[in-house]
Formats: sequence, structure tokens, C-alpha cells
Amino acid sequence: MYCPHCKHPDSRVIDSRTAEEGTVIRRRRSCPACGRRFTTQETVILMVAKRSGVTEPFNRDKIVRGVRRACQGRPVSEDQLAILAQRVEDAIRCRGSGEVPSHEVGLAILGPLRELDEVAYLRFASVYRGFESLRDFEDEIAALRSERDRAHTPGEPADEAQRLDGSPRTNGQDQRQPADGAAPR
Ligand SMILES: [Zn+2]
Repeated sequence: MYCPHCKHPDSRVIDSRTAEEGTVIRRRRSCPACGRRFTTQETVILMVAKRSGVTEPFNRDKIVRGVRRACQGRPVSEDQLAILAQRVEDAIRCRGSGEVPSHEVGLAILGPLRELDEVAYLRFASVYRGFESLRDFEDEIAALRSERDRAHTPGEPADEAQRLDGSPRTNGQDQRQPADGAAPR
């Protein structure tokens, strides 16, 4: 890997440690040419298996594009879309499998999207789950309502969407910051 500072084609590993509960290896490297240091990171490439049998690397941008379409005209920012895609990736990665069927990716989108914007959620769910009639929408809306009522009842267990990724949405951004000393300079 080229030195990000001077493009020297070689570097020396000076420290190597696992992070994020063993799912990541970070290596601190030193460039023999310019002497500066940088960090690289190694993770399992998460593969998505499509129905056709083709597998491709998980792509966060693809999630953003799909969800952005459902959010047209809705008060949802690009940052919110990026956070959602990140939550989806985290939820899938923490299952610990290197390959997931594409429909599970779709399922993992539903929970966070429902929290983000219920109209966009309905649009996405209607395509993803193949709604065919008004009845399908009515059922889904009824489910949303009862979910919301339950969520607002104190003392009830957290709703499914929150359990899916195990973290409340407000924490999503801060947790992504690399640990001290691990950030490339
Ligand atoms: Zn260098």
C-alpha cells in the first residue's frame, strides 16, 4: 500500500491490533521514505447474495440510493440517509456472517427507515414487500399505529426496530469515531 503522504510504495508495520470486538484489524504503519505514520484497517468483505445466485460486496451507497428514492419529497437529509445506511451495515455485520442474502439487507432497512420517516417507510415497504392493494397499506398503517402506541407506553420493552441494531439512533454517529491514536494523521 502506498504511503498516503509521499506515495512511497512500501511501509513498515509498527503495531497491529484488533478492534470493534475482533471484527477489525488496525495496523499502524511507518513510511521508510518520509518517516510519517498512518493506519490501515482490515475487515471481512461483507458479501450480499442476490436471488439469482450472484454475490457482490455490500455497498452502502446502494442502500442510500434505494432509500433516497423512497424519501423523495420528504424532510430527510443526506446525512440521515448516510447514518441509516451505516446502521444497516452495522446491524448486518454484527450477525457475524460474511455473506447475507439480499432480502435480509432489505429487512434490515425497514426498522431504521420506519424511525426516520413513516411515509418513506410505507413507500419502501410497499415495493419491498410487494403491496398489491389498499388493504396491504391499511394493514401496514395499522401495524405502525400499534407499534407507535406500544413505543409510547412506559415500561414496555423496546420496539423491534431499536433492538435490530441494538443502539438508540442518537448514538449512531459518535460511535464511528476511531479510537484515539488510531486515526491516520
Ligand atoms: Zn511517505
